[in-house]
Amino acid sequence: MTERLIVVGGDAAGMAAAAQARRRRGRDDLEIIAFERGHFTSYSACGIPYWISGLVTDREQLVARSPATHREEFAIDVRLRHEVVDIDLDRREVVARDLDGGGEVRERFDNLMYATGASPKKPEWARGDVAGVFGVQTLDDGSALRAWLEADPRPRRAVVVGGGYIGVEMAEALVRRGLSVTLVDRGEQPMSTVDPDMARLVTEAMCGLGVTIRTGVRVTGLTEHEGRVSGVVTDDGPIPTDLVVLGLGVRPNTALGEAAGLPLGPTGGIRVDRRMRVTGAPGVWAAGDCVETLHRVSGMPVHVPLGTHANKQGRVAGINIGGGYATFAGVIGTAVTKVCDLEVGRTGLRERDARAAGFEFVSVIAESTSRAGYYPGARPMTVKLIAERPSGRLLGAQIVGWSEAAKRIDTLAVALWNQMTVDDMTALDLGYAPPYSPVWDPVLVAARKAVDALAR
Ligand SMILES: Cc1cc2nc3c(=O)[nH]c(=O)nc-3n(C[C@H](O)[C@H](O)[C@H](O)COP(=O)(O)OP(=O)(O)OC[C@H]3O[C@@H](n4cnc5c(N)ncnc54)[C@H](O)[C@@H]3O)c2cc1C
Repeated sequence: MTERLIVVGGDAAGMAAAAQARRRRGRDDLEIIAFERGHFTSYSACGIPYWISGLVTDREQLVARSPATHREEFAIDVRLRHEVVDIDLDRREVVARDLDGGGEVRERFDNLMYATGASPKKPEWARGDVAGVFGVQTLDDGSALRAWLEADPRPRRAVVVGGGYIGVEMAEALVRRGLSVTLVDRGEQPMSTVDPDMARLVTEAMCGLGVTIRTGVRVTGLTEHEGRVSGVVTDDGPIPTDLVVLGLGVRPNTALGEAAGLPLGPTGGIRVDRRMRVTGAPGVWAAGDCVETLHRVSGMPVHVPLGTHANKQGRVAGINIGGGYATFAGVIGTAVTKVCDLEVGRTGLRERDARAAGFEFVSVIAESTSRAGYYPGARPMTVKLIAERPSGRLLGAQIVGWSEAAKRIDTLAVALWNQMTVDDMTALDLGYAPPYSPVWDPVLVAARKAVDALAR
């Protein structure tokens, strides 16, 4: 009998795995069925803020591979609007519900790829059925928000709850659409993916854009008028609004797997080994936002829901399912984003992560410029480094600035991945010409400053 792979979840991790498995095994050897409860496959959730803002004009631009492409090029039997509601590991079967047609189908599997992603965290107050409250995790979520923005009466005010990178990107998107936007965060700064001293620069940029920032404020409820949201209630008074976007982070979608007996790790993600095999469940694989992974610097399990990891992990799982050998090496927490033209990059540990992992460290902030000071367009760039004391090993780095500042984090990510010390880094042969950097690249300036701090 032809072997069968069932994929649960038809986006980055699931379809990367399916495509890789197909590359290694022909259609007579391996049958692949992919269940996706939404309307799309292989879409870019990362692009949703730019579609909401209008920078990307067409939803289809965010779809990398349609179900038709998967069927024709990879012979994958994609079943849209089918939600897998039960996994029976003993009988090696899944049950999927047809969300449009009604009814259920039962399919056997030899290998199961669990790639259900994550869902926006929803506090108690957001769980009712008040219209106008949105997460932005899937393209269907994005479609619902776009429809709300274009419906009558047109919303004029928005509250974004939570200032992680998705909240920050969504606040900018809504301002660009002409809404009056308030971002509410219970922490001391939005953008908690970087240390507060670096996040302050992001707050300034957001205020410059016209976003009202309310920090140290906790949302406790909603008000409504005729079933539509009319405001958020906070411990610092009410904020009227026509629309609420949840940017409180995400939780791995594990309920289905958990019910089937798949193990969870301490972060709440599915526990997998480096080949993306689910621990203790032969023939079951998992990847993407639903799993936890290893942080290479802290040595701790982490849940880092990013598309870059979902694609790589899905690829690893697919190679292994297809009979090859591949491993996922873990993460170091590299991420980039922007607010208007202000760019933010980070890698490795923040100060609080380094402290939690038990490291002794120094941290330095170096101010520099993106180009030679005299060259037109030179803009400020702030680089923060965190280095272990006394070894000098780089533990973390953050960059805030303009003109392609964010992707400079990649230099630091490579240094960190290879366990370089800040002393080693001062000797790096980085490119220099006035249009691209000062004669001392900002990364080198920061490394020198860290060496000085370690010597003190
Ligand atoms: C607004 C936004 C911006 C982002 N920006 C970036 C960025 O700039 N860089 C970056 O690296 N990452 C970014 N990400 C994160 C990135 O999109 C995710 O990490 C990535 O999509 C995860 O892929 P995945 O396949 O694991 O999960 P998902 O993309 O969530 O896909 C899981 C799929 O499974 C389906 N599903 C779930 N349960 C079932 C079930 N029981 N039956 C059938 N189908 C099911 C869901 O409908 C969904 O389509 C962003 C995310 C968002 C929301």
